[in-house]
Parts: sequence; C-alpha cells; structure tokens
Amino acid sequence: MKYHSTRNKSLKYTSKEAIQQGLSPEGGLFVPESIPKVTRDELKKWTSLNYRERAKKIFGLFLTDYSKEELDSCVDEAYTSAKFSSPEIAPVVSMDEKLHILELWHGPTSAFKDMALQILPQFLTTAVQSSPDPKEIVILTATSGDTGKAAMVGFQDVPGTRIMVFYPRQGVSSMQKLQMATQEGNNVSVVAVNGNFDHAQTGVKQIFQNEELKENMSRNGLGFSSANSINWGRLAPQIVYYFSAYLDLLKQGSIEFGQVINVVVPTGNFGNILAAWYSRKMGLPLGRLICASNDNKVLTDFIQTGVYDRRREFHPTISPSMDILISSNLERLLYELSGRNDVQVNEWMKQLSENGYYKLEGAALEELQSIFWGGFATEQQTRDAISDTFKKNAYTLDPHTGVGKWVYDRYKEETGDNRITLLVSTASPFKFPGDVLQAIQDNGTVENVVKENRTEESGLAANNDNNATTDDLQILEQLSKISGMDIPKPLENLGEKAVRHTDECEIDQMLDHVSSFMGI
Ligand SMILES: *Cc1c(COP(=O)(O)O)cnc(C)c1O
Repeated sequence: MKYHSTRNKSLKYTSKEAIQQGLSPEGGLFVPESIPKVTRDELKKWTSLNYRERAKKIFGLFLTDYSKEELDSCVDEAYTSAKFSSPEIAPVVSMDEKLHILELWHGPTSAFKDMALQILPQFLTTAVQSSPDPKEIVILTATSGDTGKAAMVGFQDVPGTRIMVFYPRQGVSSMQKLQMATQEGNNVSVVAVNGNFDHAQTGVKQIFQNEELKENMSRNGLGFSSANSINWGRLAPQIVYYFSAYLDLLKQGSIEFGQVINVVVPTGNFGNILAAWYSRKMGLPLGRLICASNDNKVLTDFIQTGVYDRRREFHPTISPSMDILISSNLERLLYELSGRNDVQVNEWMKQLSENGYYKLEGAALEELQSIFWGGFATEQQTRDAISDTFKKNAYTLDPHTGVGKWVYDRYKEETGDNRITLLVSTASPFKFPGDVLQAIQDNGTVENVVKENRTEESGLAANNDNNATTDDLQILEQLSKISGMDIPKPLENLGEKAVRHTDECEIDQMLDHVSSFMGI
C-alpha cells in the first residue's frame, strides 16, 4: 500500500515515509492509494479477538511496509494495562438499548488522543530505524489542549526523538495547562503562544514548510515529523476503535451481526470522525456519521450548506479541544469526495487560505450530506446535556462528549432516525472538572469553589503559585464524590509535580523557539 498526497497524486510514499514526514512537501496530507475492504466473514472472525489483536489486523491492511513482527511489537508496547486503566483499552458502556458510549479516555492523559499517541512513537522510531538516512526526529505540535500532553507522554525520553509543543495561552483549561506545564522528560519543550489554536497550527505548518530551516536541520542530522492528526500514523490507530466498538457491541448482544449503527463524534480537527468514515468505507456497517460541534460550528454549516467559511468570530468554549475553525483533516475527505481530484483540492485549499472560504457543490456535496449530519451545541446546551445525562443515567459526561450527546438528541428529533448509536466519548470528565461539577450540581454552592476554569492572564505558565492548582485538585475530589467515579491516577498526582515549563511567545517568534530548541 502506497500513499499519495491530497495535493499531488503523482507522489508515492510508503507508510513508513508518510508517517516519518507527517506532511507532504507541498503541504498536502498523505492518503492511502486505495481503501482496503474487510469482508463480512473476516469481520465476524475478529469478534473473538482482543483490542491488540484487532489493532494488528487493521494495521496489517494499511501499514504494509512494516513487517508483522514490527507491527506486533508496536501494538504490544502501546496498548498495555500499564498505560490504559481499562483492560478493554476502549470499553463500550451502555446508556440504554439505543445509546452506547465508546470511552476513549482510559489512557495516560485521560483524552482520546492517547489512543493514537501511545503508538505513534513506536511507528515513528520503527520507520526511522529502517530509513537509509536515519535522523533524529523533531516533533512539532500545535495543540488545542489534549494533543500536546498526549504527544509528550508518548515521546517522553524516547531515544532519537525530541518534542516541542505550542498551545494557545488562553485557549486551554487550567487542568490541561497544568498537565503540560508539569511534563517531565529530557527531550520535551512546551511554549504558550499568544493566539488561538488556528494561529498555533498555521505557525507550525509554516515552520514545516521552511526550506532553509529544513536544510539546516538536515545538515545537523535532524528531521521534522508531526504528531498532529494530520499524520497518517494517528489516523490509522483511530480506525481500530470503531471496528473494536462494533465487535464489542456484537459480543455484548446489543446488535446483530451486520446491523447498521450510527456514530456521533465530538469534532474539531476532523481526525476522529474521518477515521469513522474510513471504517465505513472499509465495510464496517456504520450508517450516519454525526458530526458534533460547539459554538465554533464551521463544520455544522459546511455539512448543511457546502460552504466552508472560516471568516467568523472564534469562541473559546468549555470544550476547548473543539475550538477550531480550520479542520485540517477535512482535506482528506475532500480528496475522496472529489473523486481523488488533487487539482480541485489545491484550488479549495488556496481559496480557503486566500479568501477564507470555499464551496463544495454537486455530487461531492450530495455524498457528504448523505453520509454526514452536522449539528452543534451552545455552552448552555452542553451544560444541560451533562446535567440531564447525570440525572437520567447517573453517568458523567465531559463537555466534549456533552456536545455530542446534545447533537445526538437533536439528530433523532429532526430525522426520526432511531438506530442504535455509538457516542464517542473523547475525554474523562476529570479533565474539565470545574465545568462538569458545575453542570451536575444543582445548588449554587459549588460556585464558590469553581472559579473561572479557563486560564487567566496570570495563568500557571506565568505564575507558579497560581491558586488554580489547589482549586482544581479540590474540585477533582468533589467531582469524584458526586459522580462516584475514581479520579484518574495521573490527574490525581498532578498536585505533587513541579511546574517545569513556563515559556511564552508571540506567533512570529515560534520559529526562533524551534531553532533554539534544536540548538541550530
Ligand atoms: C482532540 C479532541 C476532540 C476533537 O477531535 P478531532 O479529531 O480533532 O476532531 C474532541 N474532544 C476531545 C476531548 C479532544 O481532545
């Protein structure tokens, strides 16, 4: 299986090359040249397999230049009980007969990013070992809050790698910020950028395309790679859990074999839901892919009208990992919907960067709308969804999953489609404890404890003795008591960790930070 670029179909790379480079030289994203099919017979056989074994089957279809031994060892190192608190790795929990929740947050950083970022370092280092010109890998990552931490934990002290993370200074929750500021490891660096996630992501993309810098790095034995969801090495692991969840539902007797189910995905950069789309293409019986957004509802509008328009106000929300106006992975879907028309993709991407919008029409739009359904939740609606689910089902949702639950209910109301549905839960509620606690507590007493949860001007990076730490840890305890859930161990221990990263920069200083981190 070879990989093309969405902006130049004539390029051909192996999966090792694609994973190592992250982004194609002309700015496109790597896509498999064909989408492998899983027959019903084969799928049925996978029912008895565990998560690791299912992962090996899927990777064997996409990462064909890795040997079986290589893939086995990548998987066996990544999805272990030392790293994941659930023996199922990605367990499915049932709300009622119709709604099932796929919990993707049992990894070391309590967000779904771990599902891919626990294995990406193994994919990458394996790829580098078989490269004719092995270089030290420099990972650059822009994060809306969860990727950065998950990537650093994945790459912490991995030989032959260094990682630098940029996050929007005022765009992450205080818990996310504390998780990043306390990151250990001798090969990591974290910088808060004065800007939003889109600024940070655009800044990182530009640095990736800086030829002068890359030549200089090459002379010094260094090469960039990306841990963002633009890397195919992150997409492939996300396909695994859709297959696995379907098979678990089957095993639990919640569905019949072959029964079509819908999926709801809280969406930002369009990576997670794109993996659902690939799974569907591969033959997994998925029906509607329901794309849930928060107030930054650029994708809802796109799915409803065909117009992708980023020229709008940016809203910081209580689901910060979805505060995104430029959903990078959509480019992969556009490539497929346009019949793999790289010229057309180039044109759309040019319009997006120059004019701020593009328009999908005709058959491509029809296909988009026949598969996807878009909806969004406001801040209050998100809180209501968390509160209602807690009251009705005694189940605590994080704000991102709360957005998904709200949109799921609207979808049913508007379409009458009452198929069995998998709601993808992308974070532990303990990652956003203040907002969640506030939502599930009826009385106002919590207001005193829960201060503004967003990072303030004098956030942790600037001020080590900021009270947010103590507040957050106190809130964790309270949330645990009320929800009846255990605090994830890595979050519980945060209070004892020293703040090690306090760097800040302007957008136009990102390049300088990267150079000095590499010492070139
Ligand atoms: C990253 C993230 C999302 C968005 O996922 P995409 O793949 O970027 O669409 C949603 N929820 C949480 C908690 C996340 O960390």
